[in-house]
Amino acid sequence: MARLHLTGTVVVDAATQHDEAWVEDGHITFTRPVTADAGASGTTTQNEPWVEISGVAIPGLVDVHCHVGLDSGGAVDPELALKQATVDRDAGTLLIRDAGSPIDNSFVQAHEDLPRLIRAGRFIARPKRYLRGYGREIEVEDLVRVVVEEAKRGDGWVKIISDWIDRDTGDLEPLWPADLLAEAIAAAHALGVRVTAHTFATESIDPLLDARIDCIEHGTGMTRGQMERAAAAGVPVVPTLLQVANFENYAAQGRAKFPAYAERMQRMYDNRFAQVRAFRDAGLTLLVGTDAGGTIGHGAIAEEAELMVEAGIPAAEVVAAASWSARHFLGARGLTEGASADLVIYPRDPRRDITALREPATIVLRGSVVASAGSGA
Ligand SMILES: [Zn+2]
Repeated sequence: MARLHLTGTVVVDAATQHDEAWVEDGHITFTRPVTADAGASGTTTQNEPWVEISGVAIPGLVDVHCHVGLDSGGAVDPELALKQATVDRDAGTLLIRDAGSPIDNSFVQAHEDLPRLIRAGRFIARPKRYLRGYGREIEVEDLVRVVVEEAKRGDGWVKIISDWIDRDTGDLEPLWPADLLAEAIAAAHALGVRVTAHTFATESIDPLLDARIDCIEHGTGMTRGQMERAAAAGVPVVPTLLQVANFENYAAQGRAKFPAYAERMQRMYDNRFAQVRAFRDAGLTLLVGTDAGGTIGHGAIAEEAELMVEAGIPAAEVVAAASWSARHFLGARGLTEGASADLVIYPRDPRRDITALREPATIVLRGSVVASAGSGA
């Protein structure tokens, strides 16, 4: 395992940064190790030389909405799931909160060179009320039982699809009655498991907040009042702008048969950047999720972050949302003394120019260099 000497800027969070740090035995330290006095040439016999790396280091990126084991057709084989995780890693994503997978992707966790994965089990939907082959499709009355089952299967998270087009009404409609939803989320909480929900529609937000949902995915239908409620409850939103960019296509596809749905999807598409600014104005915590794995490719965290900046969120806040803020929310360590060295080093500071995220120079996971520009490592 390499011994690294980082110089330049080592960012811990918005309040703390260091001029240098060391990585030894897989961990980061801000205290010069005794053996570092031997110098970069490595004059000691039993230790490897220190590898000098200069740049702007930040805690490994976090994609909080990423589907490992899913592609546009549904479940993929394990080999492709590993490839997806590798592509995410090479983009700087070193921690994934899976937002539901059609397969048991826990085998990814055995790979030391792949991103850490916090699984949400299978996402929970109803027959004909979500993309076919993606979720665990259940009847309404089974919601509480299935949430408990998935809560026991995942790594502390459950994912519920809370609204989708209803072909009978021709518009987005909640999938679950509010009372059952509240019972199901309470059952997950009783097991110490948090719940997140896919939601496009305005109508599902109040029942989710009433039920003490822990996180909101997409949130395209949230009103200002609902944003304020979520902010007061400490519930973050994952805007998934790469996904919302598809809403115009969904609207076009649905226009002939489902005009009300199409009109709503188009309106949310047109409003997508203003919606993200409104999230921030309401005091909501924003997190970064690519929604990779369905129609969106893996490894797109830089692109998602750029869209958030384009929407009007300052780059420094987007970097926080994609890194240490997300780690804090998920209960994962960042670059604190003695933590696992999971970090990405950039030649330029992404807090000043978000496009720097596209060019990670060196990616360090569990103290090992897993990728570096030019080396093909
Ligand atoms: Zn998703």
